[in-house]
Amino acid sequence: MANLPLRFHAFYYICSMDQPGISDILNWHSQYKEPTLFGRRIIFDMIAPILKNLPNSFYIEQIGGSFNKIPIYKVSIGNGKTKVLLWSQMHGNESTGTKAMFDLFQFFTDTHKHSEIVHTILKECTLVFIPLLNPDGAEAYTRKSVQGIDLNRDAVALEAPESKLLNTVLKEFNPQFCFNLHDQRTIFSVGDDKLPATISFLAPSVDEARTITAGRKITMSVITAMNAVLQKMIPNQIGRYTDEFYPTATGDNFQKAGHNTILIEAGHYKDDYNREEVRKYNFIALLAGLQHVSDGKFDEYKPYFDIPNNEKHYLDIIYKNVLLADTDQKVDVGVIFKEELVDGKIIFKPIVEHIGKLSNYNANSYIDKEGEVVENEEQLQEMIEN
Ligand SMILES: [Zn+2]
Repeated sequence: MANLPLRFHAFYYICSMDQPGISDILNWHSQYKEPTLFGRRIIFDMIAPILKNLPNSFYIEQIGGSFNKIPIYKVSIGNGKTKVLLWSQMHGNESTGTKAMFDLFQFFTDTHKHSEIVHTILKECTLVFIPLLNPDGAEAYTRKSVQGIDLNRDAVALEAPESKLLNTVLKEFNPQFCFNLHDQRTIFSVGDDKLPATISFLAPSVDEARTITAGRKITMSVITAMNAVLQKMIPNQIGRYTDEFYPTATGDNFQKAGHNTILIEAGHYKDDYNREEVRKYNFIALLAGLQHVSDGKFDEYKPYFDIPNNEKHYLDIIYKNVLLADTDQKVDVGVIFKEELVDGKIIFKPIVEHIGKLSNYNANSYIDKEGEVVENEEQLQEMIEN
């Protein structure tokens, strides 16, 4: 394989699950990155021209519209026996999965079909993608739909038109596998070193007892395969979400109905506030997951439980040695960013989250204030805004 172009090395690495050439794979993703999508806020107007220009190996169909009548499309490719449904951005401000999806479309275009991994996936699977399920929420940069409905808690009531569309596609297509793509906040950490949870997974429960059903074992085996690939690239930055049963959640209900549903949460990577680094890992996770689904061997599920739990021990900034005038004590001040949409741009607004000894936390950045005196809350706010 020494004479193959760089990108084929990457296929080989993923296929064989050997120690991957990390820099190769990262270089290689940038070749297929959809160039028109960037940053945190991805809205329908950005994806519409890409959908229009996809090659005719893709089948594009409008399945309906959002509450505000923004179109919602499905994109199909492949003609294998294993049916897989993937959707993104059911939470409007969680766009990393959408970016990864369009990178995957680039990767699946005709010119690359001769690569082994693409050939295998499209031969074994029929893939249906619904990018940007909540376009109204994306416009407003909100988690919920414009009606104030959390689409990920609307699987039973089906109050929102967007939930109905997803449900209709699910019923008509009847997939064996689903990929439910989300973003998680920066606060999530993994392990004793409290590294950011760059990617987290969940095989949703089907009952309160969190029974490990045959279907969940299959879901867990797909996650096990994705985790194995990612651990080589971002060791100890992969977490496992709580499998507490949510009776109205999409994943829990889809899994219960026999569609093995993999939840992927794209999270923080150091300094990656545009979520462009994690976009790569999301893409690679999808590719590894689809490859595993194509292989059709689902025995190995137990390593799923070795993935450490997601915890909340990560902050955006920790200010060290702030002297609080009223107590005459030096403390740490932990800050998180709240994202706000202002004139079409995302602003990261700093908020004080914790004050005290924050040795149990890690942060994206540390600033030593060397005993700077803070007289009151106003001054504290001023300090973190500068
Ligand atoms: Zn979400």
